[in-house]
Amino acid sequence: MLEELQKVTSHPTAADLYEIIRKRLPKISLGTVYRNLELLVENQTIQKLDMNGAEARFDGNPARHCHVRCSVCGRVGDLHSVAPDPLKQKIKKIKKIKKSDGWEILGYRIEFEGTCPDCQKES
Ligand SMILES: [Zn+2]
Ligand SMILES: [Zn+2]
Repeated sequence: MLEELQKVTSHPTAADLYEIIRKRLPKISLGTVYRNLELLVENQTIQKLDMNGAEARFDGNPARHCHVRCSVCGRVGDLHSVAPDPLKQKIKKIKKIKKSDGWEILGYRIEFEGTCPDCQKES
């Protein structure tokens, strides 16, 4: 399963991945796919991407990198030209939030939005 996930760069949902794996392992259940994905996330072998309320997607690449979502077709891509932590330099400032706003910040998530190369061709 890990192999299938590392082959694709489409950041599939669990259901997408189930469809891919079922071609090779017709007897596998969706529950098994979910369980295995959660285990791989716990081991930090893969990443789970929480997409602003949409269904979670999975990424076979565990390294930190930025993601962009196409506002036309909804696909999720990797942004290799953007630093993985654009806010890293500002982390010291973020720590001051607790003083001014009272919140303890545990992390942040950046999701870019745009139009993918395929959708640009079509318009
Ligand atoms: Zn698109
Ligand atoms: Zn990715």
